[in-house]
Amino acid sequence: MNQDPNCIFCRIVAGQAPSDIVYESEDVIAFRDLHPVAPTHVLLVPKCHVTSLHELAGRDERSTLAAALLVAARAVAESEGLGNGYRLISNVGADGGQTVGHTHVHLIGGKPLSPRLL
Ligand code: AMP
Repeated sequence: MNQDPNCIFCRIVAGQAPSDIVYESEDVIAFRDLHPVAPTHVLLVPKCHVTSLHELAGRDERSTLAAALLVAARAVAESEGLGNGYRLISNVGADGGQTVGHTHVHLIGGKPLSPRLL
């Protein structure tokens, strides 16, 4: 599996950095964000190192990983009791506000969120 030893999320996947893991499958790991913006704030992360969702969509011809991220989102939403809804966000690249260069989707919920994104 493609891994980058300098990437904090690869280090979490490898068990070399601490994290609060809430879900794991063959391809995806999910752990609580270090700086939560809502009662539930979980990061859904492919185990292999791909820099962004844009890059992943370009490589993942059968959408296997993209689908695995959505399956993970559903599982985490269920286990976190987010029956009233939640939000998925993936920041892509510099203008998208991405700060960690390993694909991740934020799952945010546990309170009513504004319909306005900005
Ligand atoms: P983004 O700005 O979309 O790239 O999101 C990166 C997210 O990763 C931020 O919400 C950070 O709080 C979170 N983060 C960075 N390092 C860690 C870590 N070691 N464990 C958990 N979350 C982290």
